Amino acid sequence: MAVERTLSIIKPDAVEQNNIGNILAMIQGAGLEIIGMRMLQLSRAQAEGFYEVHRDRPFFGELVEFMTRGPVVVAALEGDNAVARYRTLMGATDPAEATEGTIRKAYGTDIGENACHGSDSVENGKIEVGYFFPEYVLR
Ligand code: ADP
Ligand code: MG
Repeated sequence: MAVERTLSIIKPDAVEQNNIGNILAMIQGAGLEIIGMRMLQLSRAQAEGFYEVHRDRPFFGELVEFMTRGPVVVAALEGDNAVARYRTLMGATDPAEATEGTIRKAYGTDIGENACHGSDSVENGKIEVGYFFPEYVLR
């Protein structure tokens, strides 16, 4: 299995509800290595750029408002098969459909405010880690 990198974002809802530590504990408990981490407030331009693929979706405006309403924690994760492993740990996009033991089941509120982001492919993992950690070029 290949070593991969994936981008995690602890979203504003989870930061507001004091769940940064709980989510990081789940990430580390799952054996994913945190190789870079930063707390920041996304600008509108950063949020729009990050979610560019969703620009034409009906929820785009709401998503950008949400992601910019307070600080987030971005983390670069590394491990064997890290992209799929972190998607599994996060659970379904809609917390109501997420299985027990997942981050979104534990800390998500609804399909919009779902506590965390994770890259959806190995290629996007590289792109998204590079978006926030340009110094972390994949070996
Ligand atoms: P995921 O984060 O699981 O990869 P998507 O890439 O489909 O999900 O969507 C990106 C983010 O947009 C979601 O995590 C969620 O915050 C938001 N979102 C997705 N679908 C909806 C929706 N129907 N209504 C409101 N927000 C949504
Ligand atoms: Mg996605």
